[in-house]
Amino acid sequence: MTAHVDELIPYGGVRADEAWAEEVRRLADERDAVLLAHNYQLPEIQEIADHTGDSLALSRIAAASDASTIVFCGVHFMAETAKILAPDKTVLIPDARAGCSLADSITGEQLREWKAQHPGAVVVSYVNTTAEVKAETDICCTSSNAVDVVASIPSDTEVLFCPDQFLGAHVRRETGRQNLHVWAGECHVHAGINGPELAERAQADPEADLFIHPECGCATSALYLAGEGTVAPGRVKILSTGDMLKAAKQTKAGSVLVATETGMLHQLRKAAPEIDFRAVNDRATCRYMKLITPAALLRALREGVDEVHVDPETARLARASVQRMIEIGKPGGGE
Ligand code: SF4
Repeated sequence: MTAHVDELIPYGGVRADEAWAEEVRRLADERDAVLLAHNYQLPEIQEIADHTGDSLALSRIAAASDASTIVFCGVHFMAETAKILAPDKTVLIPDARAGCSLADSITGEQLREWKAQHPGAVVVSYVNTTAEVKAETDICCTSSNAVDVVASIPSDTEVLFCPDQFLGAHVRRETGRQNLHVWAGECHVHAGINGPELAERAQADPEADLFIHPECGCATSALYLAGEGTVAPGRVKILSTGDMLKAAKQTKAGSVLVATETGMLHQLRKAAPEIDFRAVNDRATCRYMKLITPAALLRALREGVDEVHVDPETARLARASVQRMIEIGKPGGGE
């Protein structure tokens, strides 16, 4: 299990200046490494990376890359997913303590017990899960294709959906499906973005669009606000991080309230500098993500650590659940 965030002290003492950037690039070349950074990483890590994006898009870039080493600046399950899709490459994460409270919401053992209670049910897991949970899963999903994945399962078949209860509630609402059982997991960062805060921000800025990640505790409240007319329905957009970037380039709104981890604001502001992007909750910061500091990245490249390993049989089973998702339709983006 991941250590509690408050117990973790990030690697420090290195400034992200030009000398650091040069050294990172030199070491990456020497190691034949591609640098990938998740949208929630520190801005300086996003800037030095070869590719920035959501978890699944990055894993697919990793698998298609010619580089023999992948340095995944994100949290551990994401680096594991890269290893599952690219088993012959060396995968490094700059700080293996970078866990995820959502992925930790369910273990392989708990999922096996849940399956035993519902024989014949199809298991759908969000990509924010460990390799062990993916190996017990029938079909993986991302936040942008979760509805399509569940809709592809015959309507008389029970579905076990894990680990995120807010994404599960979103899928149940969209599909109208009663035989969808939802695991009560959550991400501590997204769950902290709540409805009352969103309502207050939306009322104070009636012209703003609302970009909401479905893992947020406020996704239900946003739809409720739209339903009762507090916020015009067209202004509420439930989006994965990848889809937020697309929507940023298309919206006509002058300001956008963003409900997800605050690291996302960096890419949104780059994508559409003329729009005023503001966080619904500016304390919504994932400290696991922020363990990937300039010092940690340098350490990873100098020492070849922390290497991510996935047992080959677990990787084979986990890969099958990711492949089934890709066969169903648009793979979209993960977190
Ligand atoms: S923001 Fe939440 S779901 Fe994302 S990595 Fe952090 S703990 Fe996990």
